[in-house]
Amino acid sequence: MSRCIFFLLLAVWIFPATGVALPTRLVLALDGIAYRDMKALQEGVTCTNFWGRQFQRRAFSSDEGYFPVSRMVSTFPSTSDVAWTDIFGDRPLPGYQRTYFSTAANSEIIENGVTTSMEHERQMNWQVNSGFIRSMGYLYPVHIFGYELDGLVKNFWKSGDANFYTYMRSSDDAQHMDRDIFSLLCNLDRQLQDLRARYRAQEGRDLQIVILSDHGHNHAGPGQRVEIQSFLKKAGYRIAQSIVNPKDVVIPTAGIETWVEIHNSPAETETLAELLTHLKGVDVLTARIPDQTNRFIVMDSKGGRAVIEWNPAKNAFRYSAETGDPLDYRPVNESLAQKNLLDADGFATADAWMDETMTNHFPLALERIVRGLTRSTLNPATILISLDSHYVNAGWLVQKGSQLVTCGSTHGGLDDLDSDGILLSNFKPTKDDSSDRVAGLFDNFPGLRNYRAEENGAEWVTKEEQSLTRIARVRFDRNYKLLPDDDVFLRIWSPQFFTVDDETPVEVAIKKTPRFANAQTDKEDTDLHLTFDQPVDFPDKCAYERIYACPPGLVLEPQAEYQISGWMQNQGENIRLFEFIFHTNNRGRPAAF
Ligand SMILES: [Zn+2]
Ligand SMILES: [Zn+2]
Repeated sequence: MSRCIFFLLLAVWIFPATGVALPTRLVLALDGIAYRDMKALQEGVTCTNFWGRQFQRRAFSSDEGYFPVSRMVSTFPSTSDVAWTDIFGDRPLPGYQRTYFSTAANSEIIENGVTTSMEHERQMNWQVNSGFIRSMGYLYPVHIFGYELDGLVKNFWKSGDANFYTYMRSSDDAQHMDRDIFSLLCNLDRQLQDLRARYRAQEGRDLQIVILSDHGHNHAGPGQRVEIQSFLKKAGYRIAQSIVNPKDVVIPTAGIETWVEIHNSPAETETLAELLTHLKGVDVLTARIPDQTNRFIVMDSKGGRAVIEWNPAKNAFRYSAETGDPLDYRPVNESLAQKNLLDADGFATADAWMDETMTNHFPLALERIVRGLTRSTLNPATILISLDSHYVNAGWLVQKGSQLVTCGSTHGGLDDLDSDGILLSNFKPTKDDSSDRVAGLFDNFPGLRNYRAEENGAEWVTKEEQSLTRIARVRFDRNYKLLPDDDVFLRIWSPQFFTVDDETPVEVAIKKTPRFANAQTDKEDTDLHLTFDQPVDFPDKCAYERIYACPPGLVLEPQAEYQISGWMQNQGENIRLFEFIFHTNNRGRPAAF
């Protein structure tokens, strides 16, 4: 019997019914579910129906085998992309939002937040890809929730992976739009019960379920818009897209949330931070202290000021209140001292601070502020503001648009209502944890979809950027260490590479993006053609991915926008591999982020 036939027979023998072994575990990334809400639902909430009659809603209870829900404390800002990226241990994203400020390009960069997909989304076995459906989530969140739920269930039965990862985003949209989250969660619970029953009948065992969210939701009502632009203009600042003069500030704003990021010239930080504490709606303001690594200020609207110091080697923090107590952490300091958890210099470890502040109004504030200002994103802000929950930051257009629909709730701030997401399981008791630790409770979430082995794509990367990946999942997450420090590399992935040898060159064209859509560009003049044929030779080779050094002679116009595309020949066919937009730094080299 030939080997092929043997394996075929073996496969039929192992998977007689469906042909595919069903997943052992379902991991549901459920956007924006607050700890407060899930806890209430597990215990039972009294609701009133249309006719004024009271009834009970209860879901995900112990009767169904769920353990009590735990807190999953978000990043600061407590916003989706940074939090999910942290939860799955991925390389930080260029910005907190899909509109962000790139320091290297000295430019605000606007990506379409609805149609672009971030790493954490592409790692899912199933999520809604369609930009149209996603945008409908803001208008008809209840319908889209049902649509997502259907897709989840259908695709679960088709999956052959041991862990089935799936992402639902309309749970967040629904709350922003003031829909009844309890009703949606009860619907989810029912569908999962059906799924579990069918699974048990088929497999003779229980399906393991993990449900986790990325942040909370404050249900604080519509929220008044902070007048940050006019406030700063009055004080002589210029709201800009790049920082040229000391008075230029960039304020990337994408949604309607309770936080603000500010990018400014470092020399201006102290003055600007002090000024902004007088802006109506500011609750707590944090900033990097210029020229002092690992020191940060925290201020509040009552004139309070404290300094946070971070010891990265020990991951320990010190909180010194100078005036007032902006985080109300003096009692925490005292408690740590009593428990002998402060070292001789007054530092306590991140874990000690976590245990002491988990149920605090500002949970895990020190590590979240420090990470938010240093490594939650590749382009951290100089100043981060957490707003009073009755205020929001929104672009003018966004705010106007949202007046057409009901806004009921948001998140983004440092406080517990905004920050405390959920962690829920039916097969293992969980404990309160944070976005940078939660993966540790589930073997680092193994088997996330490796989209690079299945799709074509490319990006510019640097060693420094890659070193911020917390959980190594693919070869390059380890191989990058062999790269030189100060260079930029083109990382190209494609299943096509499985079928050709290493020397098959990749042809690349680079052209400046026209400033205006109808601008005439002289193709002959502006297109730059390059051939990449010497990939970096790593000892641990990856068959679907290549890393090429950026040619030393490639010097483009500084701080400009370019488009790069690449293709290769495979069996006489011209295969398009990638196309993306990038910016250059002040030396005319591609900026990776
Ligand atoms: Zn979210
Ligand atoms: Zn949201």
